[in-house]
Amino acid sequence: MLNLQHLKKYYQVGDTTTKALDDVNVNFRDREFVAILGTSGSGKTTLLNVIGGLDRYDSGNLIINGKSTQNFQEQDWDAYRNNTVGFIFQDYNIISHLNILDNVTLGMTLSGVDAATKKKRAQEALTRVGLKNHIHKKPSQLSGGQLQRVAIARALANDPQILLADEPTGALDTNTSQEIMALIKELAQDRLVIMVTHNPQLAKQYADRIINFSDGKILTDSNPEQTVLDSESFHPRRTKMSFATALKLSFTNIITKKGRTFLTMLASSIGIISIGIVLALSNGFQKQIDKTQAEALSQFPVTISQVTSDSKQYQSEANQNSNKSFPKNNRVIAKVNPVNAAQHFNQITPAYVRYVNQINATDARNIALTYTTGFNLLRQVHGKYRPITFAVSRNDTINNSQNLMSASVGVGGSVYPVNRNGRQTFLRKNYHVLAGRYPQKANEIVLIANKQNAVNLDALKNAGFTFQNKEKLDPDQILKTKIKLVANDDFYTKLPTGNFIPNQNYQQLAQAPKTKTLKVVGILRTSNKNSDGLLAGGFAYSDHLTKEVMQLNKNSAIVQAQKSSSINVLTNEQLNSEQKALLLTTLGGRKTPSMIQIYPNSFDEKDHITSYLDRYNRGKSKAQTVIYNDLAGNITSITGGLMNAITYVLVGFAAISLITSIIMIAIITYTSVIERTKEIGVLKALGARKKDITRVFDAETTILGLGSGILGIVIAWLLTFPANAILYNLTNLTHVAQLNPLHAVILVIISTILTVLGGHIPARMAAKKNAAIALRSE
Ligand code: ADP
Ligand code: MG
Repeated sequence: MLNLQHLKKYYQVGDTTTKALDDVNVNFRDREFVAILGTSGSGKTTLLNVIGGLDRYDSGNLIINGKSTQNFQEQDWDAYRNNTVGFIFQDYNIISHLNILDNVTLGMTLSGVDAATKKKRAQEALTRVGLKNHIHKKPSQLSGGQLQRVAIARALANDPQILLADEPTGALDTNTSQEIMALIKELAQDRLVIMVTHNPQLAKQYADRIINFSDGKILTDSNPEQTVLDSESFHPRRTKMSFATALKLSFTNIITKKGRTFLTMLASSIGIISIGIVLALSNGFQKQIDKTQAEALSQFPVTISQVTSDSKQYQSEANQNSNKSFPKNNRVIAKVNPVNAAQHFNQITPAYVRYVNQINATDARNIALTYTTGFNLLRQVHGKYRPITFAVSRNDTINNSQNLMSASVGVGGSVYPVNRNGRQTFLRKNYHVLAGRYPQKANEIVLIANKQNAVNLDALKNAGFTFQNKEKLDPDQILKTKIKLVANDDFYTKLPTGNFIPNQNYQQLAQAPKTKTLKVVGILRTSNKNSDGLLAGGFAYSDHLTKEVMQLNKNSAIVQAQKSSSINVLTNEQLNSEQKALLLTTLGGRKTPSMIQIYPNSFDEKDHITSYLDRYNRGKSKAQTVIYNDLAGNITSITGGLMNAITYVLVGFAAISLITSIIMIAIITYTSVIERTKEIGVLKALGARKKDITRVFDAETTILGLGSGILGIVIAWLLTFPANAILYNLTNLTHVAQLNPLHAVILVIISTILTVLGGHIPARMAAKKNAAIALRSE
């Protein structure tokens, strides 16, 4: 079944050539027990390795079952070793980190035998070699003779046609040697056994045929065979190791050196830990910044006022002057100062108001329109009605009914935005109820306190409240307050001269049919502890109330009269057009707001709002453009960019430690390759392909990488707790360091990939190792 023809194998070391095989010609039968005798160094192992496909011959031919191996590819040799040949070595070569059963099944695992069959066959083989009762022991618990029996069982498990034994009893005592020889002789009944030995007694006692070998040549052959098969009946099945097998092999190997593996993982996880911490911190800081931004944004609405300054124009004016040297002459010139030059009057026309109201409701949920429309307000003080205002500044003229304008025009108070779908989310979001409740209707007004719970004293005085004890205020007294809002037609009486004077019969006005009743329903305080809030202290109402008043008064007699006259119908003063417009607005005859405030909820929304407002100005002349103010704008975008930059730098530093750990993993894998050289040899002898060997080490680095990644993430996560405690002490910010689960997963994946990459080169080196050399190593 096996024919060796002119087989040669020379080793060239320096100038000397060793002829390990020097024209070997021999034929072997299907069933016989051949012993090869020879002195040390005569080439016996080389012959066996060449026959077994662990080593290649230089020239000649090796014919297996009639098939020449001259054109064999790597994978054919792999399959041949796995299916056709079984090896037994002098030093057993049992893989110490696998248990006995796994050692025996390894070859079958490589050839893809299913688990049940594998176990059955392994048990049969172990029973046959007499180890039935030792199946579950570890290699370290067996004697030399027993280990050799395991090796024989491993060689037998795939039922090979050829059994190759290289000095199988060389390390055993005489009695054990006899037992093993008897076992091998028994196995030779149904296969070809070629055994190398330097013990002529044993050879004579057991072998059917003795070949004497010397200097790479056959000296004598006790029972030569002449037949050479020429039919090709050799078809070994190709082998393939699954990644699961590789993982198991590596895992059991790693388990045997737990301490070292843990330290390796710990060291190589440092990179992951530092990147994890940096990401957790920057993540938290970013969230903190975002939160502050959101607060800042609701603090600073996009504001459109009647008079504003064009900051671009101001900038360019200022820049023009900044870099100039002194003039050469002493001439003095007159020039508008840049601030004044940059002053811009916004034309807040009804069309513009309509345009603003068409902003996408998802971008601007809250819009507040402030009108200078006056309210004719009365309040019962000590049983008698008297005029009041919502003004927040000291207003001594309140008691002087001669000053008609001040008495009648209750301008003041602040306007809070109403959610554009009708709900008052703005107040609920930004204000906390100190007493009473949030307003629900247009005629319900609230009193705004600052963050120290203080209410503007002048606002209260202007509304007719008097105080003995300034400090303490009875909320019930305020919440019971009812204020009468009188229509122009009741409030102003037309004189025969055509002039109007305020009606002073307040009791009667309070009962007039058109008079509305306003109720103070709540006292609110800002919920933002960092500022005094958006609304000025004092009374606040929604623009719905203003609109109702305008509805009530737009066609009143005084408005009609004032519209058709350029003389103040109250005071007879001559009015220019601006003054007239102002007076008409105050009287409720003009619907132009003095200020529009648009409250976004996020950066994006604000960007949408400002670009929407910019669109209005497109193609308009400078005088017609409307310029808005966006205070929050510039600050926040800078902080965001800065945070990103810092994160990149820190991640960069942390990445250096990751590279260090990859190099370390490469070294560790390399060490492991050196340590496991014998194992690589055994795997090859059992038919493992180069790929399979690579896989075994890739599997090991996968476990290491995954382990160090997970370890790193766990440690980084644990470190966020002390980090947060320290940050809390330093900054009063809570939960700054937050490890994003997505980042954690990505980092584990990166760790695994990088570790596998780092270990892959040593793994490839391992795969390339010559099996014969690997098995000769100690
Ligand atoms: P034996 O098994 O009979 O003791 P070997 O087959 O191991 O002999 O070795 C035969 C000869 O080939 C010896 O001289 C040995 O030094 C040499 N040899 C074996 N392997 C190598 C090698 N990889 N490189 C160089 N010389 C080798
Ligand atoms: Mg030898």
